[in-house]
Amino acid sequence: SPSSIDLRTWVRDIPDFPKPGILFRDLTPLMRDPQGWGEAIRLLALLCDQVQPDLIVGIESRGFIVGTALATTTGVGFVPVRKPGKLPGAVIGVDYSLEYGTDRLEIHSDALAGGQRVLIVDDLLATGGTAAACSELVHAAGGQLCGFGFLAELAALEGRSRLPQEHPIESLIIYS
Ligand code: 5GP
Repeated sequence: SPSSIDLRTWVRDIPDFPKPGILFRDLTPLMRDPQGWGEAIRLLALLCDQVQPDLIVGIESRGFIVGTALATTTGVGFVPVRKPGKLPGAVIGVDYSLEYGTDRLEIHSDALAGGQRVLIVDDLLATGGTAAACSELVHAAGGQLCGFGFLAELAALEGRSRLPQEHPIESLIIYS
């Protein structure tokens, strides 16, 4: 059922983090509150009912918090996508560009080799660079993308438009 709780109540705005001029949406108060966090995970579980993932892929590191809670609640497995050099087994990697420079994400090369349906989750969608890179990685590893789930989205940055459009992209809180 739709929610009557406003999840924004638990988001704290921190000016000038991590750099001057950036307004950081801090979601840790939401995670800290059993009612708010329970509601957030319940709402993302409705997305899982819709797209029926075999696995949840969470992006390091706040995506691990969202992804493991959601995976446990819905009874599917969890696969981490990590910064370079962190995963112990053979990996597939993808480089992507940031505002200044580049970054890289990696996944275990056998993690999705069975062609599993994958829901990608992270805490927040900003420019979409991170989630777009993760979806490339899912594809390269043999997985089948079935959607994206975020706690929050900064709509003005139009990150949504950088993601594959053929599957649901759900954000619980949208900042215009
Ligand atoms: P993007 O690649 O979409 O520009 O940035 C999204 C990534 O940066 C996510 O992994 C997210 O955790 C982090 N991020 C960027 N801005 C914020 C913010 O205001 N709040 C939080 N919680 N994470 C952010």
